[in-house]
Amino acid sequence: MPRGGDNPEVQFRMKSDLRNELGESYEATLAEIAKRAQFYDLEGRFPTENMQLLHRNGLLAYCVRKEFGGLGAGPGGDVGLYGRIIEDVSAACSSTGQALAVHGTACAAINLLGSRDQIRRLSEEVVSEGAVYGFFGSEPTQRFTKDGGRPGYDAEVRRAPGGWIANGQKFFSTNSMGAKRFLFFAMSQADGEQGLAVPIIAVDAPGVKVHDTWDNIGQRATSSGAVDVKEVFVADEFMLGRPGAFSQVSPVLLSSFQLTFALELTGIARGGLDFTIDYLKNHTKAPAGLPTLGHDPHVQGRLGEMAVLVEATRAIVERAVQAVADADRDPTLAAIAHRRVLQAKIQASDAAIEVGTRLFQICGARATTRRAGADRFWRNARTLSLHDVVDKQRAAVGRDLLGLEGDMGHVLASDAQRTNTA
Ligand SMILES: Cc1cc2nc3c(=O)[nH]c(=O)nc-3n(C[C@H](O)[C@H](O)[C@H](O)COP(=O)(O)OP(=O)(O)OC[C@H]3O[C@@H](n4cnc5c(N)ncnc54)[C@H](O)[C@@H]3O)c2cc1C
Repeated sequence: MPRGGDNPEVQFRMKSDLRNELGESYEATLAEIAKRAQFYDLEGRFPTENMQLLHRNGLLAYCVRKEFGGLGAGPGGDVGLYGRIIEDVSAACSSTGQALAVHGTACAAINLLGSRDQIRRLSEEVVSEGAVYGFFGSEPTQRFTKDGGRPGYDAEVRRAPGGWIANGQKFFSTNSMGAKRFLFFAMSQADGEQGLAVPIIAVDAPGVKVHDTWDNIGQRATSSGAVDVKEVFVADEFMLGRPGAFSQVSPVLLSSFQLTFALELTGIARGGLDFTIDYLKNHTKAPAGLPTLGHDPHVQGRLGEMAVLVEATRAIVERAVQAVADADRDPTLAAIAHRRVLQAKIQASDAAIEVGTRLFQICGARATTRRAGADRFWRNARTLSLHDVVDKQRAAVGRDLLGLEGDMGHVLASDAQRTNTA
């Protein structure tokens, strides 16, 4: 499919267009996932039923190219569709949204880096079997730079006959309890093949040990525990590109990766607003002389304020989605796109946490019962917004305005002049 399609208007699909494209099953899928959100939050385990449901309705293959049976969403395809699906699923259940987003990022990386045969084989697993992928970069020993960059990885690969041997420890490994395979970021020092390598490893390969340790306060069903890889053989056909190739990959992949967090956090804010409306209509006691708490003008005002916050956040995130779609067609727009994505991530982080707090102000003390499940929005926003330090992202936007360079993977400063007028 052409990169980004021909018509920019088509890039950003509104919900009604998507409903037409995916049919009634899209809304029904979201409704079913939303019904299970509280259950999975309490259970804190991988949302297998939701991922299977997404698979049955074709949505797990959203980032698989159309020619291989997918929906063709994501960088190199339809970025608007990518944004819509991640935000909608996250609004229904933010853990499922993150699981789907990480899987989609892995599929997008395969599309950008893989050989045609690799893309075909790996896409086939997603389309026909419902295979889920992980994207394992983070390491317990890793230190970030002051600008949020990753100076390196302790995980390693070395040459072996017919392939590679991989070793390393990962943590915060989303989907680790539900994935079939994962992209494993590791350094190669092999002769003539040095740099960051991305072998694709099967979760059940000899030498892989997944630790079901994820018990964090939010995003509890993402199964983001630890994974050990010890002397695992990876055949050449499962090495994604040559070592060093990932660092050369389109900057749009990095931007779209950060965009997923803006979308997921916007989904959490939307979910919190939906929860608040439902609670006011159905679950709370009415004040004296009023039919429901929602008839109280103070509550109405607070709700209106929350809705404006959510809509403003959606607008800035939609702008970022459009910018990434534009940069996908025209790489000279990559710096603008990345700036818009960081702005959207900053706004969505703040808004999701705010909604998670304000909904208690509106719904009142009864909403603090565990049964109500209102606390999951704040816990999810608080946890997810720590993925890539948002203060460093604020600083990157500030640096960009000042025309200074940083090491966040993009030289935003080269575009500083345009920032001042954008
Ligand atoms: C829910 C969730 C799911 C995730 N899933 C994945 C995944 O699937 N794959 C993956 O690869 N990773 C994943 N991550 C991990 C993520 O990419 C980071 O590795 C992780 O958030 C780092 O957290 P940290 O507390 O170790 O470090 P940080 O967040 O970097 O640091 C903790 C604190 O130290 C401060 N700090 C850090 N470095 C500096 C410095 N140089 N100067 C000044 N202050 C500093 C920060 O401001 C922050 O307050 C996930 C994270 C979350 C929250």
